[in-house]
Amino acid sequence: MHSMYTSLQLANMLHIQQQGSSVVSVQYLSVDSRRMAFPAATLFVAIDTAQRSGHAFMHDAYQQGVRVFLCQHVPENMMEDAVYLQVPDTLKALQQLAAAHRRQFHCSVVGITGSNGKTIVKEWLYEVLHHDVQIARSPKSYNSQIGVPLSVWLMQPDTQLAIIEAGISQRGEMQALQSIIQPTIGIFTMLGDAHAEGFASVEEKLQEKWRLFQSCKAIICNTDDAAVALMAKKIKVQLLNWGYHDGVWLQLLEIQKETSFAKVDFQYEAAYHSLRFPFADDASIMNAMHVVCYMLYAGYGWEIIQQRIEQLRPLDMRMQWKKGIRHCNLLNDSYSNDFTSLVQAIELLFQPSRNEHRSIVLSDLSVGIGNLGNYQQLLQLLQTKAIHRLVTVGPVWQQVLQQTEMLSFPVHTFMQTSELLAALPNLHFEREDILIKGGRQFALEKVAQHLEAQQHQTVLEIHLPAVQHNLQFYKKHVQPGVKMMAMVKASGYGSGDAEIGRALQFSGVDYLAVAYPDEGVALRQAGIHLPIMVLNTDPPSFDVMEQYNLEPEVYSFELLQALLEWCKQRGVQSWPIHIKIDTGMHRLGFAVDEVPTLLQQLQQQQILQVRSVFTHLVASEDAAADAFTQEQIGLFSNACSLLSDGLGYSFLKHCANTAAILRHPSAHFDMVRLGVGLYGGNTGLQPVMKLYTTVAQVKKVAAGETVGYGRKAELQRPSVIATVRIGYADGYPRQLGNGIGHMWLHGQTAPVVGNVCMDMTMLDVTDLPTVQPGDVIEVFGDHISIQQVASWCHTITYEIMTGISQRVKRVYVEAE
Ligand SMILES: *Cc1c(COP(=O)(O)O)cnc(C)c1O
Repeated sequence: MHSMYTSLQLANMLHIQQQGSSVVSVQYLSVDSRRMAFPAATLFVAIDTAQRSGHAFMHDAYQQGVRVFLCQHVPENMMEDAVYLQVPDTLKALQQLAAAHRRQFHCSVVGITGSNGKTIVKEWLYEVLHHDVQIARSPKSYNSQIGVPLSVWLMQPDTQLAIIEAGISQRGEMQALQSIIQPTIGIFTMLGDAHAEGFASVEEKLQEKWRLFQSCKAIICNTDDAAVALMAKKIKVQLLNWGYHDGVWLQLLEIQKETSFAKVDFQYEAAYHSLRFPFADDASIMNAMHVVCYMLYAGYGWEIIQQRIEQLRPLDMRMQWKKGIRHCNLLNDSYSNDFTSLVQAIELLFQPSRNEHRSIVLSDLSVGIGNLGNYQQLLQLLQTKAIHRLVTVGPVWQQVLQQTEMLSFPVHTFMQTSELLAALPNLHFEREDILIKGGRQFALEKVAQHLEAQQHQTVLEIHLPAVQHNLQFYKKHVQPGVKMMAMVKASGYGSGDAEIGRALQFSGVDYLAVAYPDEGVALRQAGIHLPIMVLNTDPPSFDVMEQYNLEPEVYSFELLQALLEWCKQRGVQSWPIHIKIDTGMHRLGFAVDEVPTLLQQLQQQQILQVRSVFTHLVASEDAAADAFTQEQIGLFSNACSLLSDGLGYSFLKHCANTAAILRHPSAHFDMVRLGVGLYGGNTGLQPVMKLYTTVAQVKKVAAGETVGYGRKAELQRPSVIATVRIGYADGYPRQLGNGIGHMWLHGQTAPVVGNVCMDMTMLDVTDLPTVQPGDVIEVFGDHISIQQVASWCHTITYEIMTGISQRVKRVYVEAE
């Protein structure tokens, strides 16, 4: 059962009086009005950050059913029957509530920190321990000043162990996290590069992180790292350290790595032991060592440790939307199914819509078998949602549903996954957003595979958090008040219109721009209500532009007159337009000396309203052209003055593209137009697009033979050739053939051999003996940058991005 507080109790915990006379019960906390599974039982915490104002979403939260608000200012018209907890600093108050909640528990609390591996160690600990104890843990990687209080809040009366991760980016932050988590056992995963995280020195970073452990009674860490060893010496509590050197608590003797597993030998309490880890990479081995230490400390025997470690898999914890059959979208998490992660997933399902219908496929919960209360509670909560249908797998659900009376949605129950698979054709999923969530033993990924749209196994991953990150990066470089127009032409530089548009609308950009009216229509149909400027219009598209509320760029007298004529005929009034001035690009736009005539024509009419005036810089990225850029800015500025004096009303002025945002602050005017930077096309940003393909076949080919069309590649040695499922029809340029391009697999690069074909490409993997059909290959992403691929082709990233063809499936990663 969930801990429940009344609004009066919450006010007490904060030493304030509530405003409003109702008394409301609260089980959940939310800082994001898009992420509320159960609004009526949620406290909405309005937190203003540099990126967005939480207070601006209070009304939205109210409309969804929230009745208690933690806020810094109360809206002027207090919402009826709502309760307000007004504090000077909502973040502090949130932390205070979580700390008070935490103090009610006397169970073990594991606090995990370190530069890498926090989330995986947390998830693995959960995996090996959840058979035996009720665990509350941080969702995903909620480890920040906001994430930690939300995590701690998940501790419930039946919680026997909490596993909470803590991440910091600067001095002073850990103290706050420590007082919320109050861990009893600490795990320090590893010490990374200090600079990457904003600390002056490694010592400073280490000291700050170890503040988390100040009240721990035991600490798990790897003391092979000299700095960590030094730190560990200073502490008085029980040290559960591991490493190769003598005198550690758990000593490593040897690691023998095979391709897919590792055998690890230990000395522990004067005896020898050995474990088989189901992976062989250093990072996973290190992460698993912390888990082994914890299990030993908790009293597990080596045999059980071996059994449970054997089950660990590198996690793919990203929740991602995939395209399904018949216009369905799938949100698949067939990794775990505890109550907390389920609630999280339901929140994600109910974010602003893709399809109107939302369905859930759910296995028995992986914890609390026999705890039917959890199931009943879940059903009650689902009743408050507009669920299209619920599909359950497992005996417990069957039992629960037999005892349940009317539900507001249809339910299909199955005892086993195989039964559901057989019944799938009859269920006929169509135009539904489907959450698939199940414990691992149910293997619901098979259901997901059946529902996934057919593909040729080449996918372009679009990382939406990276889009947000890149946007914020550029926002920091413009003055507050300067508006942001996001360029989403060419379907978001190839990344897709609807998803990118939604992400941008949410992060508060002011304007969108597309190249053609069709692209604007696609955005409107995806529910985007931001103003949209269309760069390329012509008279046949006026109808559709007007219908979808799209705003044309006007670049010539012909277009201006045609538009005026059309508006007069249709009786259309006050249509916003954007005037393009040509200051040197010589593509579209009014020449500078045409501006006086333009002004006259604009003055003679009342139908069209100039919403903005803009120009495009030719070479803002190029220092050698800075004088020319300044000249363009000057010409533009003059044209704007002439127009605004003559028109007598104000409009937005804009001319800076991505490069100019950083290089030419004098070009910012009222708004900047962010394009390639949003998609990670410059260095220093997060990559948004990652392209992956798979191996179709591997073959041995003798020296002297040739590979591919035209016999371009004669093999100099007996070789192993991997044929992969991407070709120039997918947008992998033909210039990359014959050793120019490389792809990344098995931790290395492999060169393209022979010509790139239409649908396939061959790689020389002679030096990678373990390559197999089905292996996933990075074409570009974390190891091979898109910039690198562009430079191999002597082109710019823009061309590579927008060249990925539409047959390549787009997968949207919502959270890392
Ligand atoms: C494409 C485009 C931009 C964005 O350029 P980036 O270099 O990608 O930032 C800005 N303005 C106009 C008119 C464009 O066509």
